[in-house]
Amino acid sequence: MQIFRTVLGDIPAEETGRILTHEHLLYGYPGAELDHRTVFDHPAAVERVSGQVINGMLPNGYKTLIDMTPAEVGRHPQFMVDVAERTGLNVVAITGFFPERMGVPYYWRRQTIEELTEFFVRDLTEGMVFAWQQTPYKAGAIKIATGQESVFPKPSPVGAYGRHVHEVEDRLIRAAGRAAMEVGCGINTHIDPMDFEVTNPGREQLEILDEVGMDLSKVIIGHAFVPPQVNMMREVLKMGANVQLDHIGIPWRIGSAEELDEAMANALVELIEDGYLDRIVLSFDRWFFNPRATVTDSDPQLENEKVDLNYMFTSWVPRLKSKGVTDEQLDQIMIHNPRRIFSIAV
Ligand SMILES: [Zn+2]
Repeated sequence: MQIFRTVLGDIPAEETGRILTHEHLLYGYPGAELDHRTVFDHPAAVERVSGQVINGMLPNGYKTLIDMTPAEVGRHPQFMVDVAERTGLNVVAITGFFPERMGVPYYWRRQTIEELTEFFVRDLTEGMVFAWQQTPYKAGAIKIATGQESVFPKPSPVGAYGRHVHEVEDRLIRAAGRAAMEVGCGINTHIDPMDFEVTNPGREQLEILDEVGMDLSKVIIGHAFVPPQVNMMREVLKMGANVQLDHIGIPWRIGSAEELDEAMANALVELIEDGYLDRIVLSFDRWFFNPRATVTDSDPQLENEKVDLNYMFTSWVPRLKSKGVTDEQLDQIMIHNPRRIFSIAV
């Protein structure tokens, strides 16, 4: 039987509806949870995020969200559970860490591939730990991440093994591959688009996963979109992996959301013409609630909170349809592809 492992338990994969493959219900860079200014009222925040789900996801047929928040970036199992119970949304948590430069607490940097593998497997099969306490809430997928810090973006240097991947990230990627094979779950990744200037970061991640024997058809290369990198996407697709077009409606490393949307839509059409319809997924990479917004609204990163969830169907889908993309193709991309990738056989 194929299931999705949600924070409220396993559900049959056919019940997942449309799926957003990379979002964040609650998000704060490592350390934010220590800031007096970002203390928040839990029930009020659950209500606020639930309202966004009820008004922006459920009416558009989205029944499932993959919460890609890494363990040290404010991942809060109880928060996800409370939103899932309040809204009926299927929430899949991930296990995994941020890029070395932005996260991976020192405690975890010191650990072996075997220890990291065990951590991921236990998150996926026993439940995640929060603030020293074991919870019964399991992760359902793994995140891997590479690249530099993004406030002053620059490409990653060559790391210990000849790739633009840090030695700690290399270990985490190998552990992720081993854990995913043991549990049978999918992997979704974060690459930094700056790295396109020096390499194809998706290929580098996939090479490492391939070395440990991971089935690349269960791997999504995220943030694969920044134009004009269609050839890099093709390279990843030829290796058997999937690509995620994200930041829909969110300007990131490019002039405007409009410019990015148009370039991504053209890339999507090209990839469909190339025969890759069954290997594309879509998401916003939206922050439903980032407590940082209570401190400042001038942090450019907070753009991720501003796009309306209905934008997918008020702007993005009409844009795709005007380029000839059909409803059937959209169902493949929004329902069937992510369902295949994140399903776990039990
Ligand atoms: Zn993200």
